[in-house]
Amino acid sequence: MTDYPHLFRPLDLGHVTLPNRALMGSMHTGLEELGDFGRVAAYYARRAEGGVALMVTGGMAPNREGGVLPGAAGLFTDKDMANHARVTQSVHDAGGRIAMQILHAGRYAYSPECVAPSPVKSPISPFLPAELDEEGIEKQIADIVEAARRAQAVGYDGVEVMGSEGYFLNQFLVTHTNKRTDRWGGAYENRMRLPVEVVRRVREAVGQEFIVIYRLSMIDLVPNGSTWGEVVQLAHAIEGAGASILNTGIGWHEARIPTIATSVPRRAFTWVTKKLMGEVGIPVITSNRINTPEVAEAVLADGCADMVSMARPFLADPDFIKKAKAGRAKTIAPCIACNQACLDHTFEMKIASCLVNPQAAHETELVYAPADAPKTVAVVGAGPAGLSTAITAAQRGHDVTLFDRADQIGGQLNMAKRIPGKEEFHGLVDWFGTMLKEAGVTLRLGTEADVEMLSAFEEVIVASGVVPRDPGIETTGGRVVSYVDVLTGREVAGDRVAIVGAGGIGFDVAEFLTHEGESPTENLEAWLEEWGVADPSKHRAGLAPEGPQPSSSPRKVSLFQRKAERPGKRLGKTTGWIHRASLQMKGVQMVGGVTYDLIDDAGLHVTRQDGTQEVVPCDTVVLCAGQESDRSLADALEAAGVSAHVIGGADVAAELDAKRAIDQGSRLAASL
Ligand code: FAD
Ligand code: NAP
Ligand code: SF4
Repeated sequence: MTDYPHLFRPLDLGHVTLPNRALMGSMHTGLEELGDFGRVAAYYARRAEGGVALMVTGGMAPNREGGVLPGAAGLFTDKDMANHARVTQSVHDAGGRIAMQILHAGRYAYSPECVAPSPVKSPISPFLPAELDEEGIEKQIADIVEAARRAQAVGYDGVEVMGSEGYFLNQFLVTHTNKRTDRWGGAYENRMRLPVEVVRRVREAVGQEFIVIYRLSMIDLVPNGSTWGEVVQLAHAIEGAGASILNTGIGWHEARIPTIATSVPRRAFTWVTKKLMGEVGIPVITSNRINTPEVAEAVLADGCADMVSMARPFLADPDFIKKAKAGRAKTIAPCIACNQACLDHTFEMKIASCLVNPQAAHETELVYAPADAPKTVAVVGAGPAGLSTAITAAQRGHDVTLFDRADQIGGQLNMAKRIPGKEEFHGLVDWFGTMLKEAGVTLRLGTEADVEMLSAFEEVIVASGVVPRDPGIETTGGRVVSYVDVLTGREVAGDRVAIVGAGGIGFDVAEFLTHEGESPTENLEAWLEEWGVADPSKHRAGLAPEGPQPSSSPRKVSLFQRKAERPGKRLGKTTGWIHRASLQMKGVQMVGGVTYDLIDDAGLHVTRQDGTQEVVPCDTVVLCAGQESDRSLADALEAAGVSAHVIGGADVAAELDAKRAIDQGSRLAASL
């Protein structure tokens, strides 16, 4: 008997029966572009072993002009075909199934060769697309169909035709991007002709015994996007054209509403998919911010969809399904939806991985083999660096003792989890706790580790973290506290606050101080209202006519930095804009290019970039001016001649985050 009866109900697709209702959604890892297909095969095979019913690859270009970037992967050459055959073979050998996504980027292609229904530049690309003529459109259809035919030839179980997120097919659907007056533009019947024709001809080419998924944008979240009536009309037509499954797309990439970030409530958009249930006879998949078996089960039990798509959760833990089935859900490494190692990497042209699981997409390179000679290992510091080291070392067979002076594990993650919109960090700390027990780590909380205690161990690892930097601003009065004070419960006096430092922590503290009561991330209705998301059957494309309606801030907050650049510029590529927009909605003043002159009873005295001096009246100044390594223990060990590995913030404080801490800890543990 399973805890998740809906999740583990097989799904009959006619020619094939899927063993459960979980789809691994498409994610671009960048591995294909590296050309190392042994690594691509290992990545997918690992996830197939974990029991997910069906996987969808990252988007493959049907032709050069449709690739997201010049050189984007596709099935163009004999070598490409042989490489992909290797991937499908490995997946099938592991007992899994895999469909190839065909992604034509249209005007989103980051290339001067990009093409689109009309020459309308997107706000997220510098390139003006060329308008396709009739022959050009025919070529695009033929190329997509050929990609499907090739996918079938190399052993894929199906294809997903990417029709959402504002890509090529989606661009034909709305008048904003389709200004044509021929049979591909004008009335909706004409605008939807291309996606329907693509699916019809793909089905014709591949026959009946092949899965054809169509990813349909159910709520565009952009002005002049599709109406709900159009969504339903398209869904009917796509079903009629021969699709096996409809998958959900939420929002165009250019939408100014977050759709998958950690501050988006769990299952925030499954109600949209639910509206389509009963409208079509083929299975419907829902997606976005579904990251635990409990949530997946509830979504299915509530009748929101026939199947759930989870993408990033399978980066965090390839054994998600296997563990859920075995009643071991607590051991599933949680995807915290941070985007830090997956999507942000993709946008930085790096290989995608996972903050929580550095082995993701590094399966062949980062291997946790059983230790040849088990040793006694002491790890000092139960922040993410120490936790990941301790768990991995113990899993490899070492005898590990983990010390922390605090009475709980987590280190700075315990501050991160108090930020509204970062609630997922609770789950991460809880998971670390479960895994410490599973791995048999001896945990000694409330214990200040010193040289004497450590010298008996064969390996000593110092993960003692950081201390907040004192920026040394002359202070003759006023109230000055650090972010640690604020986030560990010290009262912030008054309702006017100036924050010194606009890094990740400065932004988080501003978020903390501008909210009160329940976090909108924990209250879907409040979150939808805050960002201006409406029922798409009432308001076109799901945009509320009144726009975002944030709750008012209990404080007047100002955020400063010395760098003469836009505050927040260095935050995560895919999430920085959300942090900035969120604080703007709360009326936070963000100022770059200042010099700090003085803090006194009148407030924070600064000199602006243009030389003007200003007193920012405030009741409290919060220092978020970065951090320095806590090397006190490392130095003492060195002085006593005890050799130690120093990792995490204790090693290098600059640009430290949990991603680097976990990666460094895991890699060290793999080498012990
Ligand atoms: P720490 O987490 O600082 O842990 C060090 C531990 O060592 C502490 O628990 C301390 O008590 C213990 N210790 C020190 N000396 C001793 C001793 N002698 N004996 C026993 N115990 C000792 N990072 C992200 O990647 N993404 C985010 O979204 C994010 N958000 C954040 C939000 C906030 C508000 C904060 C404060 C941080 C955030 N971070 C985030 C940063 C992240 O938490 C840190 O980079 C990370 O925790 C550093 O890990 P660490 O293990 O090196 O050190
Ligand atoms: P940070 O990002 O390095 O920012 C430090 C801030 O302090 C900067 O704005 C810096 O700007 C300012 N500063 C530095 N030295 C100063 C000085 N001497 N006087 C005055 N101001 C000074 O560090 P952080 O905000 O402490 O964050 C720590 C780490 O946690 C970061 O690396 C970050 O990646 C991680 N984190 C990540 C997230 C996330 O969402 N991914 C969230 C929180 C934290 P100026 O020098 O221009 O003044
Ligand atoms: Fe999830 Fe963050 Fe890992 Fe991406 S990096 S898969 S968002 S936990």
